[in-house]
Amino acid sequence: MAKYLSFAILSVLTAHGTAADPNSRSSVTDPAGYDPHDICHRDVLVVGGGSSGVYSAIRLRDHGKTVMVAEKQGRLGGHAEAWVDPVSGTAVNIGVEAFANVDVVKDYFARFDLSLTYVNHDSSRPYGLPELPGIYAMFSPPLPGGRLITNVYYGSPGVLSDDEVKADIVGGLQRYQEENGLPVAQPEWLAFSSHAPFNLMVSNDKVADGFYEELFALQGCRNTFYNGAAWHTQDSSALWKFTEYYILPIMLAAL
Ligand SMILES: Cc1cc2nc3c(=O)[nH]c(=O)nc-3n(C[C@H](O)[C@H](O)[C@H](O)COP(=O)(O)OP(=O)(O)OC[C@H]3O[C@@H](n4cnc5c(N)ncnc54)[C@H](O)[C@@H]3O)c2cc1C
Repeated sequence: MAKYLSFAILSVLTAHGTAADPNSRSSVTDPAGYDPHDICHRDVLVVGGGSSGVYSAIRLRDHGKTVMVAEKQGRLGGHAEAWVDPVSGTAVNIGVEAFANVDVVKDYFARFDLSLTYVNHDSSRPYGLPELPGIYAMFSPPLPGGRLITNVYYGSPGVLSDDEVKADIVGGLQRYQEENGLPVAQPEWLAFSSHAPFNLMVSNDKVADGFYEELFALQGCRNTFYNGAAWHTQDSSALWKFTEYYILPIMLAAL
């Protein structure tokens, strides 16, 4: 996985103002050029229906705001993704699955009546991270009928083609089988999902030169607010906290 702009843009739309003033509450699009049936009026347009965008939309609704979510895919969720076993209909998670045990997360799941399983994460352990590119996690989710599938997570600091990643995954699985005295089999691919490019980074020099000060100065310009992994970190719990305690207050003050 390499560089990725993962984002949600929250644009506050209101009816008046002029396009000339970048901080005015205006839309640069002239509604007169559109059929009235094609125009939706909302307080906020959320661009991107991933982890950050969906959380923001729900919480804005809680605050009495009208919201529209524009998502380019045919489903919401972004990196939260499942593969559905065509035989049993069982959904197997192939995306986000771990969350921090913090109030924002617990409150969010409680509203959907979803239970969470607690895992004891021992932060005193050494990093124990494998060298990348390579496989960094493998799970065998149970399927009805005792069928075996292996869910493999693979990471890379640089850009690799899907074929290179697949070949390295198969090689890694076969080495694991060999080293553990198991019959070496050619696995069948059931699903493959690339999340590349993934992690957006800037150099130390740019950070020292004020990159983040300039980035955060964009918040609220043209009535647009930004959250998502590119603005904070690749962690849903942290993004919901960022939205709850930083973005929502400044947005609601602007509305
Ligand atoms: C395999 C995997 C496992 C992960 N596991 C965890 C985990 O266990 N716990 C955790 O906290 N985090 C995990 N993460 C990280 C987590 O997924 C991200 O931090 C989080 O999804 C970022 O949320 P986001 O809203 O910024 O972006 P995304 O979830 O990527 O959502 C962005 C959305 O914007 C949409 N979009 C993009 N461009 C446009 C456009 N032009 N117009 C409209 N829509 C657009 C995309 O289709 C997408 O739906 C994992 C990531 C991956 C890839």
